[in-house]
Amino acid sequence: MPGVSSRIKAADANAEEDLLPPYLSSLAVDGGGRGVYVETYGCQMNVADTEVVRALLKGANYAHVPTIDEADVVLLNTCAIREGAEGKIWDRLRQIRADKKKAAAGWRTRGEPAPPRGPVVGILGCMGERLKGKLLEEEALVDVVCGPDAYRALPRLLARAHAGQPALDVALSLDETYADVAPVREGSDGISAFVSIMRGCNNMCSYCIVPHTRGRERSRPAASIASEVAQLAADGYREVTLLGQNVNSYADSSDGTADAPPMREGFRPMVPPPKAGVRFAGLLEQLALAHPEMRFRFTSPHPKDFPDDLLYVIRDLPNACASLHIPAQSGSSKVLASMRRGYSRDAYLTLIDRVRELVPHVALSSDFISGFCGEDEEDHNLTLSLMEMVRFDRAFMFAYSMREKTHAHRRLEDDVPHDVKHRRLSEIIETFNAGARAANEAEVGRDHLVLIEGLSKKSDQEWVGRTDTNKKVVLAREPVLDATTGGAPVDVAVGDYVAVRVTQALSANTLRAQPLARTSIAQFEAGGVSANALRAQPLVVAPSSIGQYAAGGSHAAAGSY
Ligand code: SAM
Ligand code: SF4
Repeated sequence: MPGVSSRIKAADANAEEDLLPPYLSSLAVDGGGRGVYVETYGCQMNVADTEVVRALLKGANYAHVPTIDEADVVLLNTCAIREGAEGKIWDRLRQIRADKKKAAAGWRTRGEPAPPRGPVVGILGCMGERLKGKLLEEEALVDVVCGPDAYRALPRLLARAHAGQPALDVALSLDETYADVAPVREGSDGISAFVSIMRGCNNMCSYCIVPHTRGRERSRPAASIASEVAQLAADGYREVTLLGQNVNSYADSSDGTADAPPMREGFRPMVPPPKAGVRFAGLLEQLALAHPEMRFRFTSPHPKDFPDDLLYVIRDLPNACASLHIPAQSGSSKVLASMRRGYSRDAYLTLIDRVRELVPHVALSSDFISGFCGEDEEDHNLTLSLMEMVRFDRAFMFAYSMREKTHAHRRLEDDVPHDVKHRRLSEIIETFNAGARAANEAEVGRDHLVLIEGLSKKSDQEWVGRTDTNKKVVLAREPVLDATTGGAPVDVAVGDYVAVRVTQALSANTLRAQPLARTSIAQFEAGGVSANALRAQPLVVAPSSIGQYAAGGSHAAAGSY
C-alpha cells in the first residue's frame, strides 16, 4: 500500500485530469460485471443521487448486488449536515475494515498467494466533499472519494482504485444536474418516486454546510423533468416527490429569460434569483395538469419562495398535495437574523396565515434547530410560542451542531451548553407532539383520499397509506365498493386510491380509518364517493388511543434528514 502522502498526491493529481493515467487502458474503466453495493445515508437527495450513481455504474458494466458480502465495490453515500451523521459513517468504515480483515484471515492455510484485498471502498456525497483528501489519509479506510457533482467520474475513479491507487474527484460544478441520466430505482415500491429537479443552495444560512458541499444552485431543464415524470406515469407510479436543496427556488433558465417576480414582503434572498422561463409554480402546475391521477409533493423548500402563484396551484389542483414543508428553524427574529435566514418571526407567521387562507386544509411541517449560537431562554420561548401558534403536523427537530467552514464557525460562538441545547430540544419536541396530537384528534370524522402503500408492519390484515396531507393511515384489509365502476366490492391493491373516513387518532402522525370505496383523485375531488359509500357502510368512530400507540414522538425527534 502506498504511504499517506503519496496516496494524497496521486489522488490530487487525479482530480486534475480527465484522461486515464497511462497504465490504465480504457478497458479498465469497464466494470467487467463487478458487483457494487451502495448504502445511502441522509436526506432524500442522497437517495435520488444513489439512483443516478447506479445508472452511471450500470452504464459502465457494474452490477448492483443486494448484500455487502457479494460486493467488489462498497460505496457509502454520505451526509455531513451534523457531526452525528458523520460519526455514523466513521463507525461504519471501521466495521467494514474489521470485516475485511476477518475475511482475509487464514489466507495462507487456504493456500492463497497473498491476503485478499477485499472490496474497494468509496465515499460519495457531502462528507466526501467536506473532508476531501482527509478521508484518504485517515486510517486509510477509504480508496475512493467522490463529491456530489463528480459521479460521472466514478468508473474512472474505481478503475484507478482497482489498480491499487487511491482516487478522488470533488470538483463542484455550476451546471451539472444529471438531467440526461435515467435513475435506476432499485428496490423501489413501484408507487412513489423521487425526481431531482435542482441541485445546490445559494442561501448560505450561517449554520449550514450544504452550500459548501453541494455548491451553487442550478436547475434541470423542465423538458427533461417532464419526460422523466411521463415515464414514471407510464410505468405505473402514482406519486412523485420533486427534490432539491431549495426545491421551490427552481428556475429553468434554458428556455426563456423572464425576471423573477418580486418576493413576498419580509423575505430577502441571499443572492438575486436568476432570470428564467419556468419557475417552481409553473413546473408543478405543468406536471400536475399532465398527470391528474399522480400525486405531486416537493421537498425541501425555503420559506422565501412561496409566492401566491404556487399556493394557487396547490389550492386548485387536487393532485398538488396540500402538505407543505416550511422550515422555520427558530421563532426568534434575533436568532433568525444570526442564522441569516432572510426573514423575521412576523414575516414567517404572515406567510403561514396566507397559506392557511388560500389552502385551509393544508398540513404544515417544519424544521427547528435548538441552541443556536447566542440563543437565550427568551429566544427559545419564542420558538415554543411560534410552534403553539402554528401547530405543525410534522416536524424535524435538531440540536445545533457546529460545522467547520460555515459562517457561524468562523464568526459566532457555539455558546449554548450541550445539556441546555438538549433540554430545549426536548421542550421543542414536546410542544410539537402536543400540537400534532391535537391536530390528529381533530381529523376524526373527516374524509380523506388515501394512496395505498403496502401492508401494515403490525398486521397483514391492515393496509397502510397516506392522505394528500401526508398523514399515515391504517385501514382494514377488506373488500370495498368500487366507485370507479359503481360495481360490486373489490379487493384493494397497492397503488389504489381509497376514500376513507377517519375513526381514530393513533399517534401524532398516524390515523386509523374506515375504508369507504376505491376511487380516483378526480372522482374524490368531485365529491362522488363518500355519500354513496357511506350508505353501504355506517361509520364507527373509535375512542382516541393516542397514549397507547404514540411512539414517544421519536419520529419527530429523529427526523428524516
Ligand atoms: N433547505 C432547507 C431550508 O433551508 O429550509 C433545509 C435543508 S437542510 C439540508 C435540513 C435541515 O437540517 C435544516 O432545515 C436544519 O433544520 C437542519 N440543519 C442544517 N444544518 C444544521 C446544523 N449545523 N445543526 C443542526 N441542524 C442543522
Ligand atoms: Fe442549508 Fe437550507 Fe439554508 Fe441552504 S437554505 S443553507 S440547505 S438550511
